Amino acid sequence: MAKPIILTLDDEPQVLNAVNRDLRQYYGGDFRIMKAGSGMEALEVVQQLKQRNAPLALFLVDQRMPHMGGTEFLAEAIKLYPQAKKVLLTAYADTEAAIASINQVGLDYYLMKPWDPPDQHLYPILDDLLNDWLATVPVPYDGIRVAGTQWSASSHHTKDFLSRNRIPYQWLDVERDSEARVLVEGIPNENHQLPVIFFPDGTVLIKPDNRTLAERCGLRTQATTDFYDLIVIGAGPAGLGAAVYGASEGLHTLMIDKAATGGQAGTSSKIENYLGFPSGVSGADLARRATAQAQRLGAEILTALEVTRIRVENPYRYVVLSDGTEISCKALVIATGVTTRQLDVPGMERLTGAGVYYGAAMTEAANYKEHHVYVVGGANSAGQGAMFFSRFASQVTILVRGSSLEKGMSQYLVDQINDTENINVLTRSVVTEVHGDQHLNAITLKNIVTNEAETVPAAALFLFIGAVPHTDVVEGVVERNSAGFILTGSDLMKDGRPPAGWTLRRDPYLLETSVPGIFAVGDVRQGAVRRVASAVGQGANAVSFVHQYLRTV
Ligand SMILES: Cc1cc2nc3c(=O)[nH]c(=O)nc-3n(C[C@H](O)[C@H](O)[C@H](O)COP(=O)(O)OP(=O)(O)OC[C@H]3O[C@@H](n4cnc5c(N)ncnc54)[C@H](O)[C@@H]3O)c2cc1C
Repeated sequence: MAKPIILTLDDEPQVLNAVNRDLRQYYGGDFRIMKAGSGMEALEVVQQLKQRNAPLALFLVDQRMPHMGGTEFLAEAIKLYPQAKKVLLTAYADTEAAIASINQVGLDYYLMKPWDPPDQHLYPILDDLLNDWLATVPVPYDGIRVAGTQWSASSHHTKDFLSRNRIPYQWLDVERDSEARVLVEGIPNENHQLPVIFFPDGTVLIKPDNRTLAERCGLRTQATTDFYDLIVIGAGPAGLGAAVYGASEGLHTLMIDKAATGGQAGTSSKIENYLGFPSGVSGADLARRATAQAQRLGAEILTALEVTRIRVENPYRYVVLSDGTEISCKALVIATGVTTRQLDVPGMERLTGAGVYYGAAMTEAANYKEHHVYVVGGANSAGQGAMFFSRFASQVTILVRGSSLEKGMSQYLVDQINDTENINVLTRSVVTEVHGDQHLNAITLKNIVTNEAETVPAAALFLFIGAVPHTDVVEGVVERNSAGFILTGSDLMKDGRPPAGWTLRRDPYLLETSVPGIFAVGDVRQGAVRRVASAVGQGANAVSFVHQYLRTV
């Protein structure tokens, strides 16, 4: 822990210097002694210290000061540091004010000026208070703190971004934590936007975009050069597979992801069917390991950067980033995966992020301790989500359109769900409306066989309802099917002939798109088996086709 701070405040410079000199002599080794000459100045110091979450152990404050008296200052300062010890420096005539201060601000002690000799009149008293503080006050968190409200979509977005990038943070709920509220109110913030992110160096970001936040958190957002052998778009399991094999096989490889490495798999609470992890592995852990592996082997990884377009200028392939930058390469792998389909029912737009979440939203689970939550979806991801939420929620209800879970879910998950007391399944059911003012409090369910509808209380709704491919980025460049999935290899062949515009004498390779040297892997491909192992395998496989392609250009 950084040295705890003793803050002294007096408007008379001689007294301030004298008390500082005495404190430094005796406490300088273990404490940082700071001083201020007025209440306003001291409050600014306190705000800055709190922004850094610096430990403040004791205020030693003169009672009689113009503009803002000692008690008045303490009343404000303890809103940010309620556990700091409070000592007033008083003159004989101020005794009554000091006694009143005991009641008003919970004063710990008042000292008479002068305090000579300090060995008798100052140190024993402060020793006692400081030892008490050291013994009872927990070490303050010294990492990133995110202050917001549970029901704001932008607070959820920031927490999700940080946790998906495996950046530790402390969550401060300004509606429940008055200290956090005062801290946030002390920041110049015209439109009262949330979340406010506090960094250990005292700097602050207000509702930042992903890229700004990523840069501040030390994630790489800029390529070191503008030309690579191989660029991989998307850093889910398929992209990571391609990056690991590309880099390990000597290709100068760049991988770009708009959010975080790990993709959908990174949001999974537990992957039980990935080879080599007999007790399962969390998506975050798998992503962390694969990211470290790709980096160690030499792949460059950029996060929080979206590729908006690709273009071809033979023999090179270009990716265009959201900031307009272009980076070129010899071969390109598209591994942009899929995203959860949106549920289009009344109330959704307003309540998304405020009780309604797409995907696993694991960061939110702990907020629903002892509540009834609903999970929509019948695939493995929904089953895993339900199992995870059942550890927190009092009741988890899975809603599926089909007549049973078995139809879309692996049997091991169905068995786990059947064995979990606080999970129940409603088949043939859909959500037709979500209700709530500030946050979700009820949903309307409809049985699709009987058409009966009922509105039931619900604390949270987690949606896992199918996939839409992320392929806008390749629009007009490579061939896609009507649902937007990318065609590769033999899927491109019509009547034994390669697609229009294909100029090579060979047919497209297995994972190659309708443009030579551009490959597609993972969930984004037509007919993909949506599994981690399959995505990783395709990523690795694509690299061998990249080598074959590069031999010809
Ligand atoms: C909650 C959940 C649990 C799951 N559990 C399992 C399981 O237990 N076992 C199993 O085998 N499978 C599981 N799956 C499925 C598995 O995670 C997917 O099949 C796999 O992640 C697909 O990998 P991918 O790399 O093809 O795509 P994704 O994982 O979707 O990754 C695509 C990446 O591309 C990025 N991207 C998209 N567009 C752009 C762009 N324009 N610019 C830059 N980046 C972009 C995205 O941000 C994303 O990170 C689960 C899925 C979910 C959602």
